[in-house]
Amino acid sequence: MDNDKKNVCVIYTGGTIGMVHSEAGLRPEPGFLSGVLRDSPVFHSEGFPRIDVVEYEPLLDSSDMAPDDWNRIAGDICSRYRDYDGFVVVHGTDTMAWTASALSFMLQHLGKPVILTGSQIPLVDEGSDAFANLSGALRLASCPEFAGVTVFFDGQLLRGNRTVKTHSRKFSAFSSPDSPALSDIRADDASPAPAADQQATVTFTPIQPVKCGVITLFPGISVEQIETMLTAMPDGAILRTFGSGNSSQSDDLMKVLRRYTLAGGILINHSQCLGGGVDVGIYAGSSALQQAGAIPAGNMTLEAAMTKLMFLLSQEGERESVIATARDRYVLNIAGELIA
Ligand code: ASP
Repeated sequence: MDNDKKNVCVIYTGGTIGMVHSEAGLRPEPGFLSGVLRDSPVFHSEGFPRIDVVEYEPLLDSSDMAPDDWNRIAGDICSRYRDYDGFVVVHGTDTMAWTASALSFMLQHLGKPVILTGSQIPLVDEGSDAFANLSGALRLASCPEFAGVTVFFDGQLLRGNRTVKTHSRKFSAFSSPDSPALSDIRADDASPAPAADQQATVTFTPIQPVKCGVITLFPGISVEQIETMLTAMPDGAILRTFGSGNSSQSDDLMKVLRRYTLAGGILINHSQCLGGGVDVGIYAGSSALQQAGAIPAGNMTLEAAMTKLMFLLSQEGERESVIATARDRYVLNIAGELIA
């Protein structure tokens, strides 16, 4: 036995990567991917860590995941944290960026890599991207310099809470706007995140059920529509605005938004643009939102903006003080989600 090998725990949640063909189409096959990882000599060859697999039951299509699934993944990492040098979360691609963002807030002070990966094409299919993604993630998960939550896909290691799924079919399915890859195998380039504290004790904050939502502005959306949607999300609303954070400045809209924030709702001004983000004051439309109580999301991804809101609202304490602290902390960089 090679005693220099690092130990990596694979948390296999589901996704296309481990699916097999059936008469009804692709479906997850329990035991299949775990068996490949256990039995294929290639995963035990030089350069690979020693691997243990925790397989979820049932295996999930990630479109079916909810915050309780994030809680389970984070809890499974936490309870095994001391036993491994790193973690690979095998996950469907559809909501991988959401899970990565959520985990980056829920698991603070990570001194080890937690790398999410999956594939566009199942491992069983010829020409699949599964082996390259899985093997790359396993190798990087044994490198302490890549501590933190990341996504490894198509040769690139991306910061988890800066990642967005930007293509539904290409192998290069993920991008990280405004933020360079931490490592790019294709460019033979690596710029690891600042060294993490290996000795720090990881903390786990589960996400609690909160009533938050997203409202995307479009030309012609009515104030009544916005008001109706806000009533269904009393805790927090991400308002997806135009350009650098602009909306109509109509008095009626501002009254509705003001009423919402005064009632305790946390209103976030998030730009629909993939890059650049919100810059309050360039246009009067963003200043009006600020006056109505909206908090700028800077250049956070939508996934980070929403999971950060859920995380901040999940802190323990009296509701009013949780809300007040959430408002104050929202603009701060908590887990590398904001790029200066
Ligand atoms: N629908 C699948 C999922 O997200 C797609 C994939 O894995 O690529 O689980």
